[in-house]
Amino acid sequence: MNEYDSNRILDITKNIGYVKSNDQNNADCYVINTCHIRDKAKEKVFHEVGRIKQIYSNKKKPIMVIAGCVAQAENQEMIKREPFIDVVIGPQSYHKLNKILENFQRNKKEDETEFDTIAKFDLLEKTRNSDSKVSSFLTIQEGCDKFCHFCVVPYTRGPECSRPFQTVIKEAEQLIRNGSKEIILLGQNVNAYSYKEGGNEYRISNLLNELEKYSELKRIRYTTSHPLDMTEDLVECYSSNEKLMPFIHLPIQSGSNKMLKLMNRKHKVEDYLDIHSKLIKINPYIKFSSDFIVGYPGEEKVDFEDTIKLIKQIKFINSFSFIFSSRPGTKASKLKEISHSISKERLIELQSYLFKNQIVHNKSLESKEINVLVENKNKNQNTYFGRNEYFTSVIFDGAKNDIGKIVKVKIEKSNQNTLYGKIKKMKAA
Ligand code: SAM
Ligand code: SF4
Repeated sequence: MNEYDSNRILDITKNIGYVKSNDQNNADCYVINTCHIRDKAKEKVFHEVGRIKQIYSNKKKPIMVIAGCVAQAENQEMIKREPFIDVVIGPQSYHKLNKILENFQRNKKEDETEFDTIAKFDLLEKTRNSDSKVSSFLTIQEGCDKFCHFCVVPYTRGPECSRPFQTVIKEAEQLIRNGSKEIILLGQNVNAYSYKEGGNEYRISNLLNELEKYSELKRIRYTTSHPLDMTEDLVECYSSNEKLMPFIHLPIQSGSNKMLKLMNRKHKVEDYLDIHSKLIKINPYIKFSSDFIVGYPGEEKVDFEDTIKLIKQIKFINSFSFIFSSRPGTKASKLKEISHSISKERLIELQSYLFKNQIVHNKSLESKEINVLVENKNKNQNTYFGRNEYFTSVIFDGAKNDIGKIVKVKIEKSNQNTLYGKIKKMKAA
């Protein structure tokens, strides 16, 4: 989402004459967009600001803007600790950035951290999305009302708020006109999307089915979803919607019901398994990926073993896994942490199973022909980059006019993260 937000900040500031600079040594304004989901983010920001400060030690100082969730959570502290920072702006206040930049005064610090999501969405609607990549992100929903005890999102992105249905479709049309062949719908809880208008409720399933109608669009994905919001209408899309990819990122966090309860996840392992079996029944080729947290306060060996059991059962083909990171203001921040060395050991073990699944899955594609959406030519190389239906990176020979097309690639070798192959040339008629 930060990548999408950064592109939109560029689109917004274009209206007052700013353009993206490729020369970081001579910028008028410098924006760092930040993430607060795990610790270390704040220190990384100060480190980066220190680096920029060095560059400009003998030059005119750029306007230094810290945007995103670290700005939201640490606003005044950032300004106090680092005088080089001029503006802190939270993720729901971007619509105020142009005014701040236009009225900027060297000796005045600006702190905009209100949750004004509707006003932001209004400005996004009025600002053309200039993204012209083959695969583009499109935010449909922001914020979260679920309050998992470990998570800072409800405090930094604010309450759940969905963009109007027609606004999303209008932005998708812009992306398609710009050349997008794949759209990835985004939200912190993307499948909680709900927009009510004229007595109708529009859900993510309505968006997926509307987007399917655009013939130039080849693929649709969405991320990140929550098991509680995997409603029947969404599950049904996997049998009716031909452009929806057979790959779902559905975080579970732990394979132990005790841990899910302590985390306030509001679902059980059985609910997750139920969603999995429903989807596999619809399409046995559907694959899952997930997020896992190890070392959450109260996690015992037996809970961790339940997580490993689940990984062996579902065979996720790609996942993100983290050691619990205490976040200020969350309920879990008040709990007694378990030893870091135990958490680390568990993470290593968990990842060994996850990576093994990934390697085995990628290997199973060797000597097969797979559909790849070609995204771009690799820098300084004679190869091209694309992704298969499961969002795995594929590197292969190819040609410039393959970009934006779905081509057949015969996979010759693979490793944990990448497939390598040769494009299958169509015989001339
Ligand atoms: N809304 C999604 C869900 O509930 O499944 C997840 C969105 S969250 C922005 C992305 C991931 O970051 C989570 O699934 C979780 O695994 C991880 N995460 C969030 N807070 C964390 C924390 N305090 N420590 C470690 N990992 C965390
Ligand atoms: Fe965070 Fe996801 Fe839980 Fe919301 S549902 S609090 S975004 S982990």
